[in-house]
Amino acid sequence: MSNTQAKPDARRDKFRAALEKLWPVAKGSLTWTRKTCGKPKTCKKCLSGEKHPSLIFTYRKDGRLHCRNVRPGQEATMRKALENGRALERLLVEQGEELLRSLRD
Ligand SMILES: [Zn+2]
Repeated sequence: MSNTQAKPDARRDKFRAALEKLWPVAKGSLTWTRKTCGKPKTCKKCLSGEKHPSLIFTYRKDGRLHCRNVRPGQEATMRKALENGRALERLLVEQGEELLRSLRD
């Protein structure tokens, strides 16, 4: 194998190795909000205006904004996935820079 062929393969291997560590992965954001429950007329927290804390996962898909409720047991995994998502985006930016640099060599 010539040197010019080995170089892109090495970059691909490096990318795959980095990608392997970025799991689970997601794109969006988590926001705390307060919601009324199913008994807003009898619930003390709802009547006082305190309401119930609720974690919302917000993301865009095909240009539209979507919101999903995140259960307490799911928060840590979602936070890790979003952190990995940001790392993946940085990785893609670096790949673009390296690709163009390699095409000019
Ligand atoms: Zn309530």
